[in-house]
Amino acid sequence: MEMKFRFLGGADAIGRMGMTMEGSDGKMSLFEYGMAPTKPPEYPLEAPRINHVFLTHSHLDHCGMVPRVCGRDNCELFTTPLTAEVGEIMMNDSLKIAKSENNPLPYTKGDIDRTMKNVVPLTFGDTIELNKLDIPLHSAGHIPGAAMFEIIGDTSTVYSGDIHTINTKLVGPARPVDCENLFVEGTYGGRIHPPRKETEDAFLDKVAEVTDRGGRVLIPCFATGRTQEMMMMLRNTGYDMWVDGMGRSISRLYMNYPEYLLDYKKFKAAKRVFQEVRNPNMRSLSAKGEVIVTTGGMLDGGPVLGYLRELGKNPKNAVLLVGYQADDTNGRMLMDSGSVMMDGEPIKIECEVQKYEFSAHADHEQILDFVRECDPKNVIFMHSDTRELFESELKGDYNVMLPKLGEEFSLDV
Ligand SMILES: [Zn+2]
Ligand SMILES: [Zn+2]
Repeated sequence: MEMKFRFLGGADAIGRMGMTMEGSDGKMSLFEYGMAPTKPPEYPLEAPRINHVFLTHSHLDHCGMVPRVCGRDNCELFTTPLTAEVGEIMMNDSLKIAKSENNPLPYTKGDIDRTMKNVVPLTFGDTIELNKLDIPLHSAGHIPGAAMFEIIGDTSTVYSGDIHTINTKLVGPARPVDCENLFVEGTYGGRIHPPRKETEDAFLDKVAEVTDRGGRVLIPCFATGRTQEMMMMLRNTGYDMWVDGMGRSISRLYMNYPEYLLDYKKFKAAKRVFQEVRNPNMRSLSAKGEVIVTTGGMLDGGPVLGYLRELGKNPKNAVLLVGYQADDTNGRMLMDSGSVMMDGEPIKIECEVQKYEFSAHADHEQILDFVRECDPKNVIFMHSDTRELFESELKGDYNVMLPKLGEEFSLDV
C-alpha cells in the first residue's frame, strides 16, 4: 500500500528529528519529534494532527518535542519502557532549561504527564498491530532501550533511528533486517572510527598517567548512555571515583531494566564502585576524587562547570572529552581555544584537555555494510549533514533517496 512520508526535521542535519507517515485512510503517524538543545533551541517543523507516535530512543534530538504532539493530540506513544522513563527525565529537564533561559516554552508539564499516560510500552520482538500494518521492534544497538521499527504491510520498511553495529560496553549491535525500504541514519557519513579497543586503551592509559602525577580526571558526559559506558570502562581500575549530575539518576534507572543491558552483572559492579554525589554538599568530597564522571557532556550546564572552575586551574589535572562537541558549545570552545564561558566571561583552562572518540553511532563503512546486509530496494538517508557521501558509493546498486526538509514523497509499504 502506498504511504506518504515527510521529514519535519533531521533529514539533512543532526538534531531535531521528525518524520510523518500518512496512509490512504488519512491516519498520520509521527516517527520521533526532537529538538537541538542549542542556544536558543532549534525545533522541527510544526507537526500536523497525529494519531500515533513512534519513538526510537531517549536522546533529546529524538524525544525532546514529543510532549508537544502527545500532549496536544492525546495520541499513543509506542516505545520501550526504558526510553519512556529516561525520556520523561529529559523532557522535564529541557522544560526547566527553557524556563531558566527565558525561552518560549514548547509544551507544559501537563503535556509531559499526558505523554507518559499515553505510553504503550513494548520491547524487542513485540509487534504493534495498526491499520493493517504489523510493526515489530528491533534493538538498535545505540544506547540501552533504543529501538528500530519495522513496518510490515505489503512489503517491509525499516526506520533505524540511531544505530551502532558493534558491541559497546552497554549494548550489543543492531542486526540487519531484510527489507524493501530502509530509513537509515548517516551521522558519520565520510568518517571512520578508530578501532574501539585502541581508543579504550589510550583513554585508560591517560587516566593512569594523570592520577600517577597526582592529578584528578574530569570526564564530562551526556547523562544517557555515555556516563554509563564510562562507568563500565573504568570499573576495574580501583581509583577513587564519583558520578554526578543527571547521569547518576539515569544510571539508577538502568538498574531496573537488566534486559536492555549487554551485561547487567558488570553494570551493577560498575555502579557499585562509583560513589554518588547525592546532594551539592557532597561536592566538597567528590571534587577531591581521582576520577569524576559528570553531566553535561558539552560543558554547557550541569555540575561539570563547578568542577571545571576548580580543577581547571591545576595543570596536573585533565579534562577528558568523550562525546560529540557541537558548534557554539563550551566543549567546542575548550577544544579550539582552551577557554570556556562561565558566568558570561571567558575563563582560561590551565589543565590538560584531551578528546576521545567513543561514538554510539555506526561509522561510514559500518552503515554501508548495514545497508548491504538489509539489501533494500530504496535507501533513505537521514540524521546526517554528509549523506551525499553515501549516495556516491551506493547508487547503481540501490535507489538512494535524500529527501529534503518538508518535501513529501511516497513509498510502497
Ligand atoms: Zn541518539
Ligand atoms: Zn540522534
